[in-house]
Amino acid sequence: MKRDQTLEVVWFKRDLRVEDHRPLAQAQAAAQCAGQGAVLPLYIAEPEFWQLPDASARQWAFVAEGLESLHAALSARGQGLCLRTGDAVAVLEALRQAFPNMRLWSHEETGNAWTFARDRRVAAWASTHGIEWREIQPAGVIRVLERREGWARRWDRLMAEPVTPPPEVLRPVPDIPLGSVPDAAALGLPPDPCPERQPGGRDAALERLNSFLHQRGQSYRRAMSGPAASAAHCSRLSPHLAWGTISMREVAQAGLRRSAEVKTAGRRDGWTGSLSSFQARLHWRDHFTQKLEDQPGIEFRNFHPAYDGLRPTEPDAARLAAWSTGETGLPFVDACMRALNATGWMNFRMRAMLMAVASYHLWLDWRAPGEHLARQFTDYEPGIHWPQVQMQSGTTGINTVRIYNPVKQGHDQDPDGAFVRRWVPELQGVPDAFIHEPWRWEQAGSLLDRAYPAPIVDHLAAAKAARQQVWSVRGQAGFRSEAQAIQDRHGSRKSGVPGPRRRARKTDAKPSPQLDLPLT
Ligand SMILES: Cc1cc2nc3c(=O)[nH]c(=O)nc-3n(C[C@H](O)[C@H](O)[C@H](O)COP(=O)(O)OP(=O)(O)OC[C@H]3O[C@@H](n4cnc5c(N)ncnc54)[C@H](O)[C@@H]3O)c2cc1C
Repeated sequence: MKRDQTLEVVWFKRDLRVEDHRPLAQAQAAAQCAGQGAVLPLYIAEPEFWQLPDASARQWAFVAEGLESLHAALSARGQGLCLRTGDAVAVLEALRQAFPNMRLWSHEETGNAWTFARDRRVAAWASTHGIEWREIQPAGVIRVLERREGWARRWDRLMAEPVTPPPEVLRPVPDIPLGSVPDAAALGLPPDPCPERQPGGRDAALERLNSFLHQRGQSYRRAMSGPAASAAHCSRLSPHLAWGTISMREVAQAGLRRSAEVKTAGRRDGWTGSLSSFQARLHWRDHFTQKLEDQPGIEFRNFHPAYDGLRPTEPDAARLAAWSTGETGLPFVDACMRALNATGWMNFRMRAMLMAVASYHLWLDWRAPGEHLARQFTDYEPGIHWPQVQMQSGTTGINTVRIYNPVKQGHDQDPDGAFVRRWVPELQGVPDAFIHEPWRWEQAGSLLDRAYPAPIVDHLAAAKAARQQVWSVRGQAGFRSEAQAIQDRHGSRKSGVPGPRRRARKTDAKPSPQLDLPLT
């Protein structure tokens, strides 16, 4: 390739695959059109990004496996993945020095505030040097969305578009060292043991998809709420979707094909309901991400300003530490947190309960607990995470306030205490009847604050006090009109704004097998 020819640089971010990758396919088409042009696939490991409070070594380990798999797929086509570590603008500028005629391709990214600011710096650099940067919409999230009306129909149309095949051959770019995947320490990441983390990479993503659609997913609807069964029967596609080892369109279309198959076969064995619940959740993914795309500030600020100052912004360090390490003395909460810390994953209901306990029972502002959860999740996705964190903390103003009773959740979701005993072995000897409330056991004195902490709060009294505080905000003048504005901007068109007198749905009632919560 000559110096005056255009190098098509494809910048991989949270899209670590060659299949259904429009920037790669379009860059290749542009290179072919130019005759002698070439495509350079690029990944930039940015230490500053990986040192943010929402990043972790477990996420990097998953990404690193995705990069190895992406490199193999690209190499098989003729040009491996170019890996650089450093600041994105500095890396791109070094490439420009070597290849003055370059064009940049990537997917649009709905990330955190840091990636938003970095993309602005890259855009400014590109404009200064007359470099064209083509950003392509990845799936159903729409940049500069004017109105929420019709969003769901647009999403369906976008998901139905054909999956883009990968290029068959990539012309090699001569004289360019490819570099290697840095380890976590080189990115400044502290050790983060996660012994049961899901493996990354394309093969692992396809295995999760196929085993879910043909075996594991049959009891998805029934099993999704229990922490143990859900680990086997939920799709577990979340880290793959978060880091793009598989695309939303690929998953949505595979789900629809399988739905059609089971309908045609007239099966009445759970598959139909499970697949329709799954499809709804894929839709939620982009519905939530659209909120962060439309209002990036919700990573830091309450959706509804009436909640500003409700909880102390400086978190109670002892409570935060007890919650983060699974030492609250509330067995089911501690078991969920320890399982999350060891696996990098937790089902939706237990994520919601963990966040609710931090926000209501422990009365912690959502930001610090939200960052802890973000680091623990291998599938951390800012666009889902921050709206969900706020929703479970009661600060959106448009959602029903859900204060989970952690003891009742334990009895409902882990009736024989097997999950608690697995993750909180200190409680092995506690009889079933007391496993979720060991403080009621007559031998509690030999256990509590010795082998296992006594509860750090009286959970019933703490929930009552929190409920009163949160509902008193809802009664304030002007609350409802602001909530309506939030609903207009972000809410699902299927739901309405709950008024101050509309009481919380009984979250602690026996959960329906399918926890299809309202979409707002
Ligand atoms: C406080 C809190 C924080 C969360 N943070 C994240 C996060 O950082 N990353 C993340 O992927 N999910 C997050 N979720 C949503 C949900 O818990 C996970 O998507 C789900 O547990 C992932 O497991 P799975 O892939 O087996 O899901 P499945 O049940 O198999 O669902 C398939 C896919 O649908 C999407 N999805 C499922 N449930 C939801 C939901 N409630 N909202 C939006 N999308 C959904 C996910 O992409 C998921 O991979 C959070 C939920 C809560 C309550």
